[in-house]
Amino acid sequence: MANFNTHLFVASAASAGVALVAVNAHLIVATDILWFVFLGTVGGMLPDIDSDNSRPVKLLFNVLALMCAGGVLQVLKDSYLPYQLLLFAVGTYLLVRYAVFALFNSFTVHRGVFHSLLAAVFFAFLMTCISYYFLHTGVLLAWLNGIFIAVGFIVHLLLDEIYSVDLSNTRMKKSFGTALKLFSYNDIPASVLMTLCTLAIYRITPSPKPLNAVLKGTNWHQYFKGEIFEIIAKYIGY
Ligand SMILES: [Zn+2]
Repeated sequence: MANFNTHLFVASAASAGVALVAVNAHLIVATDILWFVFLGTVGGMLPDIDSDNSRPVKLLFNVLALMCAGGVLQVLKDSYLPYQLLLFAVGTYLLVRYAVFALFNSFTVHRGVFHSLLAAVFFAFLMTCISYYFLHTGVLLAWLNGIFIAVGFIVHLLLDEIYSVDLSNTRMKKSFGTALKLFSYNDIPASVLMTLCTLAIYRITPSPKPLNAVLKGTNWHQYFKGEIFEIIAKYIGY
Protein backbone atom coordinates (compact mmCIF):
# COMPACT_ATOMS: atom_id res chain seq x y z
CA MET A 1 0.00 0.00 0.00
CA ALA A 2 1.03 3.55 -0.56
CA ASN A 3 2.17 5.43 2.53
CA PHE A 4 0.49 8.40 4.18
CA ASN A 5 2.55 11.10 2.46
CA THR A 6 2.08 9.54 -0.99
CA HIS A 7 -1.68 9.45 -0.41
CA LEU A 8 -1.63 13.06 0.78
CA PHE A 9 0.32 14.23 -2.27
CA VAL A 10 -1.57 12.24 -4.92
CA ALA A 11 -5.02 13.06 -3.50
CA SER A 12 -4.27 16.79 -3.40
CA ALA A 13 -2.70 16.78 -6.89
CA ALA A 14 -5.63 14.83 -8.40
CA SER A 15 -8.25 17.05 -6.76
CA ALA A 16 -6.35 20.15 -7.91
CA GLY A 17 -6.55 18.81 -11.49
CA VAL A 18 -10.27 18.12 -11.19
CA ALA A 19 -10.81 21.54 -9.55
CA LEU A 20 -9.09 23.26 -12.51
CA VAL A 21 -11.38 21.44 -14.93
CA ALA A 22 -14.37 22.45 -12.78
CA VAL A 23 -13.24 26.12 -12.89
CA ASN A 24 -12.93 25.91 -16.64
CA ALA A 25 -16.38 24.36 -16.92
CA HIS A 26 -17.70 27.30 -14.78
CA LEU A 27 -18.85 24.89 -12.07
CA ILE A 28 -16.75 26.67 -9.44
CA VAL A 29 -14.74 29.88 -9.29
CA ALA A 30 -10.94 30.02 -9.08
CA THR A 31 -10.98 31.25 -5.46
CA ASP A 32 -12.73 27.99 -4.45
CA ILE A 33 -9.90 25.78 -5.70
CA LEU A 34 -8.16 25.55 -2.31
CA TRP A 35 -11.37 24.48 -0.58
CA PHE A 36 -11.95 21.70 -3.12
CA VAL A 37 -8.32 20.54 -2.94
CA PHE A 38 -8.78 20.38 0.84
CA LEU A 39 -11.94 18.27 0.42
CA GLY A 40 -10.25 15.94 -2.09
CA THR A 41 -7.34 15.51 0.30
CA VAL A 42 -9.70 14.68 3.18
CA GLY A 43 -11.42 12.17 0.87
CA GLY A 44 -8.00 10.68 0.13
CA MET A 45 -7.42 10.03 3.83
CA LEU A 46 -10.81 8.47 4.59
CA PRO A 47 -10.37 4.89 3.24
CA ASP A 48 -7.71 4.16 5.86
CA ILE A 49 -9.81 5.20 8.85
CA ASP A 50 -10.31 1.51 9.62
CA SER A 51 -6.57 1.03 10.02
CA ASP A 52 -6.16 0.90 13.83
CA ASN A 53 -3.18 3.20 14.15
CA SER A 54 -3.25 5.23 10.98
CA ARG A 55 -2.65 8.96 11.26
CA PRO A 56 -5.95 9.88 9.55
CA VAL A 57 -8.05 7.94 12.05
CA LYS A 58 -6.25 9.48 15.04
CA LEU A 59 -6.70 12.92 13.54
CA LEU A 60 -10.35 12.20 12.81
CA PHE A 61 -11.06 11.07 16.38
CA ASN A 62 -9.15 14.05 17.80
CA VAL A 63 -11.30 16.43 15.76
CA LEU A 64 -14.47 14.47 16.62
CA ALA A 65 -13.56 14.49 20.34
CA LEU A 66 -12.90 18.26 20.28
CA MET A 67 -16.20 18.87 18.48
CA CYS A 68 -18.10 16.78 21.05
CA ALA A 69 -16.36 18.58 23.95
CA GLY A 70 -17.29 21.91 22.32
CA GLY A 71 -20.88 20.72 21.88
CA VAL A 72 -21.12 19.71 25.55
CA LEU A 73 -19.81 23.15 26.62
CA GLN A 74 -22.34 24.85 24.38
CA VAL A 75 -25.30 22.84 25.73
CA LEU A 76 -24.36 23.02 29.44
CA LYS A 77 -22.80 26.48 29.62
CA ASP A 78 -25.69 28.12 31.48
CA SER A 79 -26.31 25.30 33.96
CA TYR A 80 -22.93 24.60 35.57
CA LEU A 81 -19.95 26.34 37.19
CA PRO A 82 -16.80 26.86 35.07
CA TYR A 83 -14.75 24.12 36.80
CA GLN A 84 -17.64 21.66 36.38
CA LEU A 85 -17.89 22.58 32.71
CA LEU A 86 -14.17 22.00 32.31
CA LEU A 87 -14.53 18.53 33.87
CA PHE A 88 -17.42 17.68 31.53
CA ALA A 89 -15.51 18.89 28.49
CA VAL A 90 -12.33 16.98 29.35
CA GLY A 91 -14.37 13.88 30.22
CA THR A 92 -16.21 14.04 26.88
CA TYR A 93 -12.96 14.51 24.99
CA LEU A 94 -11.34 11.49 26.67
CA LEU A 95 -14.47 9.36 26.22
CA VAL A 96 -14.66 10.00 22.46
CA ARG A 97 -10.93 10.02 21.77
CA TYR A 98 -10.15 6.79 23.63
CA ALA A 99 -13.29 4.77 24.49
CA VAL A 100 -15.26 5.37 21.26
CA PHE A 101 -12.05 5.03 19.25
CA ALA A 102 -11.31 1.63 20.87
CA LEU A 103 -14.89 0.52 20.16
CA PHE A 104 -14.60 1.64 16.51
CA ASN A 105 -11.32 -0.26 16.17
CA SER A 106 -12.80 -3.44 17.60
CA PHE A 107 -15.62 -3.36 15.04
CA THR A 108 -13.59 -2.58 11.94
CA VAL A 109 -10.90 -4.47 10.08
CA HIS A 110 -8.36 -2.74 7.84
CA ARG A 111 -9.27 -2.84 4.18
CA GLY A 112 -12.78 -3.89 5.11
CA VAL A 113 -15.93 -2.14 3.98
CA PHE A 114 -14.48 1.35 4.54
CA HIS A 115 -11.91 0.63 1.82
CA SER A 116 -14.45 0.24 -1.00
CA LEU A 117 -16.32 2.15 -3.71
CA LEU A 118 -19.50 1.69 -1.68
CA ALA A 119 -17.90 3.69 1.15
CA ALA A 120 -16.83 6.36 -1.38
CA VAL A 121 -20.50 6.81 -2.35
CA PHE A 122 -21.55 6.83 1.32
CA PHE A 123 -19.05 9.56 2.25
CA ALA A 124 -19.97 11.59 -0.85
CA PHE A 125 -23.66 11.57 0.19
CA LEU A 126 -22.68 12.27 3.80
CA MET A 127 -20.61 15.32 2.79
CA THR A 128 -23.44 16.54 0.53
CA CYS A 129 -25.85 16.37 3.48
CA ILE A 130 -23.40 17.99 5.94
CA SER A 131 -22.85 20.85 3.44
CA TYR A 132 -26.52 21.35 2.73
CA TYR A 133 -28.00 20.99 6.23
CA PHE A 134 -25.14 22.19 8.49
CA LEU A 135 -22.94 24.45 6.36
CA HIS A 136 -26.08 25.83 4.64
CA THR A 137 -24.55 25.84 1.17
CA GLY A 138 -26.67 25.80 -1.98
CA VAL A 139 -27.62 22.49 -3.56
CA LEU A 140 -25.01 22.70 -6.34
CA LEU A 141 -22.13 23.44 -3.96
CA ALA A 142 -23.31 20.71 -1.56
CA TRP A 143 -23.12 18.11 -4.34
CA LEU A 144 -19.76 19.38 -5.55
CA ASN A 145 -18.41 19.08 -1.99
CA GLY A 146 -19.60 15.47 -1.92
CA ILE A 147 -18.11 14.73 -5.35
CA PHE A 148 -14.66 16.02 -4.34
CA ILE A 149 -14.69 13.79 -1.26
CA ALA A 150 -15.42 10.86 -3.62
CA VAL A 151 -12.65 11.94 -6.04
CA GLY A 152 -10.00 11.85 -3.30
CA PHE A 153 -11.43 8.61 -1.91
CA ILE A 154 -11.36 6.78 -5.27
CA VAL A 155 -7.86 8.07 -6.07
CA HIS A 156 -6.72 6.53 -2.76
CA LEU A 157 -8.25 3.14 -3.66
CA LEU A 158 -6.66 3.22 -7.13
CA LEU A 159 -3.26 4.15 -5.71
CA ASP A 160 -3.31 1.28 -3.20
CA GLU A 161 -4.25 -1.10 -5.99
CA ILE A 162 -1.43 0.19 -8.21
CA TYR A 163 0.97 -0.36 -5.31
CA SER A 164 -0.14 -3.99 -5.06
CA VAL A 165 1.43 -4.70 -8.44
CA ASP A 166 5.09 -5.48 -7.93
CA LEU A 167 6.42 -3.70 -11.00
CA SER A 168 9.97 -4.99 -10.79
CA ASN A 169 8.91 -8.63 -10.74
CA THR A 170 5.71 -8.07 -12.74
CA ARG A 171 3.76 -10.20 -10.32
CA MET A 172 0.88 -9.42 -8.02
CA LYS A 173 1.36 -8.95 -4.32
CA LYS A 174 -1.00 -10.75 -1.95
CA SER A 175 -2.90 -7.52 -1.38
CA PHE A 176 -4.00 -7.33 -5.03
CA GLY A 177 -7.75 -6.88 -5.28
CA THR A 178 -8.24 -5.84 -1.64
CA ALA A 179 -7.87 -2.09 -2.20
CA LEU A 180 -10.28 -1.25 -5.01
CA LYS A 181 -13.47 -3.22 -4.53
CA LEU A 182 -17.18 -2.53 -4.82
CA PHE A 183 -17.84 -3.63 -1.21
CA SER A 184 -16.29 -5.99 1.33
CA TYR A 185 -16.68 -9.50 -0.11
CA ASN A 186 -15.35 -11.09 3.08
CA ASP A 187 -17.72 -9.32 5.40
CA ILE A 188 -21.21 -9.39 3.93
CA PRO A 189 -23.02 -8.17 7.12
CA ALA A 190 -20.80 -5.06 7.19
CA SER A 191 -21.42 -4.51 3.46
CA VAL A 192 -25.19 -4.86 3.90
CA LEU A 193 -25.09 -2.39 6.80
CA MET A 194 -23.05 0.07 4.73
CA THR A 195 -25.48 -0.31 1.80
CA LEU A 196 -28.44 0.42 4.11
CA CYS A 197 -26.66 3.48 5.55
CA THR A 198 -25.84 4.69 2.01
CA LEU A 199 -29.48 4.29 0.87
CA ALA A 200 -30.74 5.98 4.04
CA ILE A 201 -28.48 8.99 3.61
CA TYR A 202 -29.27 9.17 -0.11
CA ARG A 203 -32.93 9.63 0.79
CA ILE A 204 -32.16 12.84 2.67
CA THR A 205 -29.71 14.33 0.13
CA PRO A 206 -31.05 17.41 -1.67
CA SER A 207 -32.24 16.82 -5.26
CA PRO A 208 -29.23 16.74 -7.62
CA LYS A 209 -31.24 18.52 -10.37
CA PRO A 210 -29.18 21.78 -10.29
CA LEU A 211 -25.98 19.72 -10.69
CA ASN A 212 -27.47 17.70 -13.56
CA ALA A 213 -28.55 20.88 -15.32
CA VAL A 214 -25.04 22.38 -15.10
CA LEU A 215 -23.35 19.14 -16.17
CA LYS A 216 -25.65 18.80 -19.18
CA GLY A 217 -24.84 22.33 -20.26
CA THR A 218 -21.08 21.70 -20.22
CA ASN A 219 -19.22 20.93 -23.42
CA TRP A 220 -17.35 17.84 -22.23
CA HIS A 221 -15.96 16.99 -25.67
CA GLN A 222 -13.11 19.41 -25.24
CA TYR A 223 -11.84 17.58 -22.14
CA PHE A 224 -11.60 14.32 -24.01
CA LYS A 225 -9.71 15.87 -26.89
CA GLY A 226 -6.66 16.47 -24.73
CA GLU A 227 -7.52 20.06 -23.88
CA ILE A 228 -7.55 19.13 -20.21
CA PHE A 229 -3.74 19.19 -20.26
CA GLU A 230 -3.74 22.60 -21.90
CA ILE A 231 -6.11 23.88 -19.23
CA ILE A 232 -3.93 22.54 -16.41
CA ALA A 233 -0.80 23.89 -18.10
CA LYS A 234 -2.45 27.30 -18.41
CA TYR A 235 -3.14 27.44 -14.66
CA ILE A 236 0.26 26.26 -13.54
CA GLY A 237 1.91 28.79 -15.78
CA TYR A 238 3.41 26.73 -18.62
ZN1 LIG B 1 -5.55 2.42 1.80
